[in-house]
Amino acid sequence: MTPSDTTDPAVLAQLRRRSGRPDRRILFTGATVVTMDPGLGVLDRADLLVEGDTIAAVGACPDRHGAVVVDATGTVLAPGFVDTHRHAWETQLRRIMPDVHDLGAYVRATLAGHATVYRPHDMYVGTRLAALTAIDSGITCMLDFSHNSRTPAHSDAAVQALADTGIRGVHASMGPHFGDWAGQWPGDLARLREEYFATDDQLLTLRLAALATDETAGPALAYGPELARVARDLGIGVSIDAVLGDSSSRAVLGWERQGLLGADVTLVHATGLTREAWRAIGGSGTTVALAPTSDAQIGLDSAVPAIDEALSVGVRPGLSIDVEVALASDMFTQMRALHTIQRMRAVNAVHGTDRRPVRITTHDVLDFATLQGARTNGLGAVTGSLTPGKKADLLVIRADDLNTMPLNDPIGTVVLGSDARNISAVLVNGEPRKWNGQVLDIDLPALRDEVHASRDHILAASAA
Ligand SMILES: [Zn+2]
Repeated sequence: MTPSDTTDPAVLAQLRRRSGRPDRRILFTGATVVTMDPGLGVLDRADLLVEGDTIAAVGACPDRHGAVVVDATGTVLAPGFVDTHRHAWETQLRRIMPDVHDLGAYVRATLAGHATVYRPHDMYVGTRLAALTAIDSGITCMLDFSHNSRTPAHSDAAVQALADTGIRGVHASMGPHFGDWAGQWPGDLARLREEYFATDDQLLTLRLAALATDETAGPALAYGPELARVARDLGIGVSIDAVLGDSSSRAVLGWERQGLLGADVTLVHATGLTREAWRAIGGSGTTVALAPTSDAQIGLDSAVPAIDEALSVGVRPGLSIDVEVALASDMFTQMRALHTIQRMRAVNAVHGTDRRPVRITTHDVLDFATLQGARTNGLGAVTGSLTPGKKADLLVIRADDLNTMPLNDPIGTVVLGSDARNISAVLVNGEPRKWNGQVLDIDLPALRDEVHASRDHILAASAA
């Protein structure tokens, strides 16, 4: 009998019969395992054992007792990607402005326009579509920077959408920039914490989301002592968006003086910051979420993703998708954009001299997209690498497809050669969410109808 692989529906049926059982064992055999664990590296022709929701062993796994064996020959096993910031509610507005002129044009159309007519149902539709697409392209952990929380019901819908997809979701809650809203934020975070995030060991976690300054939406959404106290009282982390340029640099130095930086705080973008601001970030253990395509493509502040600046103060950043209204939705694009932009800058800076460029590698960007992303999201001990004891968030990537064969360099193949079509299977928390190339549990025609109806409502209502 030939061993079954991830194309076999019988294996999936077997796995699903024992879904959620802590004693369910899945043994992947014969794979090239890109662990992204600094101590384990890349393992050839290796096995990986999942027990319940956890990675039990990597390497040789002689104890196959009771395991569903999945032949993973010809594949790369890799940790799922971690997205450190995206605004998932906007997803039914995908690519409505692919050539957006600048941040102001985006803010006016989306945050001051479409956002104001969103119903809770639209929050649900956009957030669910984002999470399902993320899973399809190998993102197993997604921080949803949910900044259209107009009522408690809007927040409930966004959280429910994450829960319904089975993704490892981080709900980062913020009030809306513009328009009428219930004024429930940030007070409502205490209710959300109690209703949806009561235990620490669960698939969904909560963060407070804020802006760096009061320039766009006034003081209520700007990070400072008041919001820091809310987060600390709840024991949750903070993600701060629109960290851009001189005004944000001054804000960072203010937070340093007030003791508001630290490992539980993430600065998103961090584009165009001063040297002094970077010193404060590096010295405080604050994490950074780069958004290479929004920085470069939309043109945020200097438009240069701040990778060299981050590395120069010892910060290894996470990567993020940001907004699908103008940008691609997958992590391959972010990794390739950052890899290309940084190496272009490095060579360009020494061109015509005899100095050697200092360039990042494919290993660096895969580290940012996995382990560093997990750390940035406050989940470094939980996910981001194929390390025994961590949760089983992993990808089976076919390395013998038309566009991935032959397998010469596994990390190069993942970063530069692969895309969503090569991801045969995705496990989140030990549960198959994609199998044989298909995201599970989707009624695509129904989903399509729902997305179109929501999109049509938003465009009609915001044009009225
Ligand atoms: Zn953002």
